[in-house]
Amino acid sequence: MADKQVAALKKRVADAISAAGDEIIELGEDIFAHPELGYKEQRTSDVIAAKFKELGLEPERNLAGTGVRAVGTGRKAAARVAVIGELDAVVSPQHRHADPLTGAAHACGHHAQIANLYGVACGLMASGVLAQLDGTVDFLAVPAEEFVELGYRQRLMKEGKIDFFGGKQEFIKNGIFDGLDAVMMVHSQAQVPGRKAFVGGTSNGFVGKIINYQGRAAHAGAAPHEGINALNAAMLGLMAVHAQRETFRDQDSIRVHPIITKGGDLVNIVPAEVVVETYVRGRTMDAVFDANKKVNQALEGGAYAIGAKCNIEEIPGYLPLNDCGTLSQLFGDNMAELIGRENVVPAPHMAGSSDIGDVSQLVPTIQPSVGGFGGVAHGKDFCVTDPEMAYIIPAQALAMTVVDLLYGEAATARTIKENFRAPLTRDSYLKMWDDFRTGNL
Ligand SMILES: [Zn+2]
Ligand SMILES: [Zn+2]
Repeated sequence: MADKQVAALKKRVADAISAAGDEIIELGEDIFAHPELGYKEQRTSDVIAAKFKELGLEPERNLAGTGVRAVGTGRKAAARVAVIGELDAVVSPQHRHADPLTGAAHACGHHAQIANLYGVACGLMASGVLAQLDGTVDFLAVPAEEFVELGYRQRLMKEGKIDFFGGKQEFIKNGIFDGLDAVMMVHSQAQVPGRKAFVGGTSNGFVGKIINYQGRAAHAGAAPHEGINALNAAMLGLMAVHAQRETFRDQDSIRVHPIITKGGDLVNIVPAEVVVETYVRGRTMDAVFDANKKVNQALEGGAYAIGAKCNIEEIPGYLPLNDCGTLSQLFGDNMAELIGRENVVPAPHMAGSSDIGDVSQLVPTIQPSVGGFGGVAHGKDFCVTDPEMAYIIPAQALAMTVVDLLYGEAATARTIKENFRAPLTRDSYLKMWDDFRTGNL
């Protein structure tokens, strides 16, 4: 009996999403055409807030800058779940649809997430199904997932506007994820043009850093002996990092990938200032912090060898994704109904990172990825190839999973929460990053 009722409710939400299909696709394409970088997603924020209002929701605005929250209420509040869409684009100036001024492009598929988010809200609200469920749904449009424009975000930090580069991290700090029983979002899977979904995946965590080498300027031809060459210091530092690579264990998936963002001022001046940025990524934060110590040692060693100075600014990155198996299974089963069991496959470990990882250390969370996208992630050719797969079907699978979670006193959501052993609380999370910033980790 209950199974039949659940199936009927799921059909109603899926049908409501299909009925709004053209509008959902149009929203996704509109956002694709207007990419905005993290903490600057004003237009995207306005657009999704207006869409929520059309559904009778009352969106809260300006969360962590451009974030939006709209809360859909059921007939009871036995549990609270959240669905997330990311507002920001990535910097990809060679992308065909890049903003000519900012270089921003939706080369990571976040535009589809906002369409998915609206689709879920449509399905649950327009169908009237949420009113027959026993919990609350937070529809969250979150800023700044891509870890880009570090200088800009550093400025925001100095101005006291943010404490973290990631929008979900700011949401955590502001208590927006407190007490949630389940959090779900879907990410694009690049180079999978057809109908496939990947569930249960994990991802690396990372920390970021900006390294400033200070030397002494002198005439590069006439008097290099009077200078201290900061570029040589940086290059030796980087070579020493490479010399550490053999100590990184395969199972830790460590990635260290530095770039030099300033290599000197003028070719006939001994470089007095050189700036290097890097991430240190790994499968667990223990592995990240261990590798990070070796990287710092190596970078400082380069400065010591040349007699330069080296200042390392540690920047909290993102935590590894801690997939909630039960939640992934529910989502996978719903996806299987929509695209066939054979097209729902286990996701591998991903060496990239996202701030959904941070959320997943606090509350039960999933981030499956879906096909419907061609081209390379963050590359110039990334695009939607199958609009129904990219925009509509993930919304249906998410909304159907909300039905599973909140049906009948929200028993499933409550069981998932009871069985979840959170690796971190909000307080221990914030303390961990404080300790990291002050060099105590
Ligand atoms: Zn992304
Ligand atoms: Zn991305």
